[in-house]
Amino acid sequence: MSHSIKGKTVVVTGGSKGIGKGIAQVFAKHGSNVAIVARDLNVANRAAADIGSNVKAFYGDVTDGDSMKIVARGINQTFGSIDVVCSNAGIFPSATLENMKSKDWDIVMNTNTKGTFHTVQACLPYLKQAEYGRIVITSSITGPVTGYPGWSHYAASKAAQLGFMRTAALELAGDNITVNAVMPGNILTEGLEGLGQDYLDEMAASIPMKKLGSVEDIGYAALFLASKEAGYITGQTIIVDGGQILPE
Ligand code: NDP
Repeated sequence: MSHSIKGKTVVVTGGSKGIGKGIAQVFAKHGSNVAIVARDLNVANRAAADIGSNVKAFYGDVTDGDSMKIVARGINQTFGSIDVVCSNAGIFPSATLENMKSKDWDIVMNTNTKGTFHTVQACLPYLKQAEYGRIVITSSITGPVTGYPGWSHYAASKAAQLGFMRTAALELAGDNITVNAVMPGNILTEGLEGLGQDYLDEMAASIPMKKLGSVEDIGYAALFLASKEAGYITGQTIIVDGGQILPE
């Protein structure tokens, strides 16, 4: 499977940290050229240098459609193609329904859901020119499958990504572009660490495998969905959660 990804250009939004960095590492290890997109270029440049010489950092803000068009053009100019898009950038601030402000809702939807739209739309002209195109969206089990108190905006944003994913899969099937999603459970990242040790301990204890996932766990699911061999899979989701959502 991995040989088919060698030499392909892979865009990873939010590739400077956490799950995105894990996705970037897995693709780079298998010979892809990887474009990390994030707002903090210092952090992104450090991540690119950490991962390897086939990885470059680009400034992009997924909430801004024009910014994403500029970065997609730059990535295509640098690497000569865009074959795979991993729409992964996301935020998960917490606010209860009673305390949530309208602007709290908007920033989460604009980053997680509209950000995926901006990313896919900006990369589409290049994906259409590729031998075959792959879009992999990082959704979540929270929203599509479960809820979590304090995350109504986040859950809505992650469920909405799946509606987008299925519709994009239908629209792009004739262009030899597949669109799928990975749905992580609880994966140990800086973002998740920000929720506090109590949350991490409580989660690990509640997962059948008794541990949080690693960023590479998500990277390998994305690698499979992006491979040539997964070319007949579209509009689907892969849950990577250590058994968290299984009923006992
Ligand atoms: P992190 O907070 O560790 O990393 C988030 C990344 O997204 C950073 O690279 C950040 O860079 C980037 N980012 C945030 N906002 C923007 C923006 N407006 N434009 C461009 N890049 C942006 O998060 P995780 O790795 O934990 O999460 C990544 C994805 O995985 C998210 O979509 C999240 O919903 C999903 N997920 C995570 C789970 C987990 O357990 N960790 C579980 C389920 C899903 P910068 O700030 O420099 O822009």
